[in-house]
Amino acid sequence: MAGKALGVYLKFINTPTDEEFEKMKAQIASHVLDFFKGAAKHAKGISGVTVSTSPAAGSAKDIDVVCYVLKSQSDSLVQKRFGVTISSTSSGNTVWSPDKSMMLSEVYLEKNEGDAQKAKLNGFIICHELMHNKLDTYPPNMPVADIHKIKDGSVSKENISASDAPSEADMKAMALGLPIAVPQHTQDL
Ligand SMILES: [Zn+2]
Repeated sequence: MAGKALGVYLKFINTPTDEEFEKMKAQIASHVLDFFKGAAKHAKGISGVTVSTSPAAGSAKDIDVVCYVLKSQSDSLVQKRFGVTISSTSSGNTVWSPDKSMMLSEVYLEKNEGDAQKAKLNGFIICHELMHNKLDTYPPNMPVADIHKIKDGSVSKENISASDAPSEADMKAMALGLPIAVPQHTQDL
């Protein structure tokens, strides 16, 4: 099939290394992959999607995206690298740095540690942040003004739970962003 392959890189930082957590990583990745595959069906010029939970340095080029999956807010790269203060209630953030010309998406696992379906919920929160990354935060190209206002949106809503699986509207919106090359913060891969 013609088109570009899109890589989604999930970089886990300060997270456990036991077998149980490895299982959770795989579950998170599969929720993210389902969403991107659904979006890619509606996108022009995307030949396939892969999700990696152990990205090598130098990964993430062109249309690829990165989400840092952090143990807690105290690991925040938005704060450490971009010097931007984050809200203590947020489960994730996506910030464009005009100085560095880089996008940074991150989520904080401890925020949903008690959720009965935390792998699913964290997967959906990653999808949400990566929608911001590709759709409404990159100044030169914003196909959506505010993802929180997507009609019939689910995972794109401002507050989500594990029952808010990505909707068709979410996937169609994300399809607009997939072919856009948004420079990612890759220094912490
Ligand atoms: Zn949001």
